[in-house]
Formats: sequence, structure tokens, C-alpha cells
Amino acid sequence: KNGESIVIPSAVIKRLPKYHRNLESLLDKGVERISSREFGKIAGVSAPQLRQDLNHFGNFGQQGYGYNVENLYNALSKIMGIEKKSNMVLVGVGNIGQALVNSTDFTKRGFYLSAIFDINPRLVGIKINGLEVKDVSQLENYITEHKIKIGVIAVPEKAAQEIANKMVRAGIQGIWNFAPVDLKCPQEIKIENEHLTEGLLRLSFKIDE
Ligand code: ATP
Repeated sequence: KNGESIVIPSAVIKRLPKYHRNLESLLDKGVERISSREFGKIAGVSAPQLRQDLNHFGNFGQQGYGYNVENLYNALSKIMGIEKKSNMVLVGVGNIGQALVNSTDFTKRGFYLSAIFDINPRLVGIKINGLEVKDVSQLENYITEHKIKIGVIAVPEKAAQEIANKMVRAGIQGIWNFAPVDLKCPQEIKIENEHLTEGLLRLSFKIDE
């Protein structure tokens, strides 16, 4: 991660949040330790797969003991940058944008929206969940000035690439994209797409099979 020399397969990275979430609920239930077999079952992977995944990051489990839930939870939190408290900006406070602004889910994990932007003069100036909507013309300055690393895009398809370009010019490192478009950005910019309708179409395909 972030320039370290070891390359972690993306399939492994994809499973980490799931492990983290399951560890969190084990912690909530007061479980102190768990075997790789049991944990694998909960997380929906085989025990060898789980061990192999976690071995990319260090020696967490112990033969005959399993994993210490709290230690592993803390280690994964660190690996995923959850402890760092990352500030993000969001552009587009329509339905999806507002849902994100009102969500506490990622705040709990140390990701905060520090500013939100829109182009619509009727939205600029109003407050959503305590955050005032800024005019999108201020986006680039804000990102540069506050050294924001993560940008969230929740504008319509036709505006998304232009917003991404602005974010990139201003020095963003990663984009969490909710617009139904495949953004074209320089390779060093990390992009995670949430193409919501695609999930629905995959579900529909599975149901019709
Ligand atoms: P959604 O569910 O996708 O949020 P919506 O119907 O609420 O849909 P959209 O038309 O998708 O609204 O637009 C989302 C938001 O993006 C709106 O508030 C709109 O004003 C804003 N927006 C559109 N173009 C731009 C732009 N170029 N820069 C900033 N904000 C924009």
C-alpha cells in the first residue's frame, strides 16, 4: 500500500473490509479469539484462504490459538488507513450525495467529509448535516489548500469526468465515484467505482438464471 514494495493482490484487498467488518461484530459480541476455520466460515472464505490473505500483512494467527480478535481488528484498521482520520470532499449533493452526507457509516471508520460542493445555486449555501454546500468553483482551491486526498463524485454522468479532472489537477489521490461512468484519470490516481445500478443488474441476471 502507498508505495511499499510488496504488491498485494487486489482480490485480497477486496476481502479486507469484509474481514474488518466481521471482526468488529465479533468484538461487539465480546469474542476474544477465534480459529481461522471459524472466522473463515463467518467471513465466507476457507480457512487456508483466510490464512493466506492475512499472511500478506504479517503473522497474526497462532497454531492452536487462532486469532486474537482485537489485535487482528486493530491491525486491519491500520492496514486500511482507518485510524488516520482522512478528510474527503464530495461533489454533487443530489439524492445520492445527500445520502452520503447524512451517512455515519464511514465517519465511524475515520473518514470525514470536510466540504461538499454543488453547481446548483439553490443548493449552494444551505446546510446538510451541519455542512454548508459550497459552490463547485471553489473545489480545486479547497482540495489544494486543505491537502485533501479523497474526492467523492456524486454528480450526473455528463459532469463526472470534468469534476474528476478538476480533482486530479488539484492534487487528489483517490476518487470514490458514484457516477455511472468509467472515469479516465492518470494511472497514479486510485479509483473505486460504486456503479449502483450495475449491482442491481447483476442481481437481476442471477435471479433470471
Ligand atoms: P442522484 O440520485 O444521482 O444524486 P439527482 O436526481 O438527485 O440524482 P443529479 O441530476 O444526478 O441529481 O445531480 C446530482 C447533483 O449534482 C445535483 O445536486 C446537481 O446540481 C449536481 N451537479 C450537476 N452537475 C454538476 C457539476 N458540474 N458540478 C457540481 N455539481 C453538479
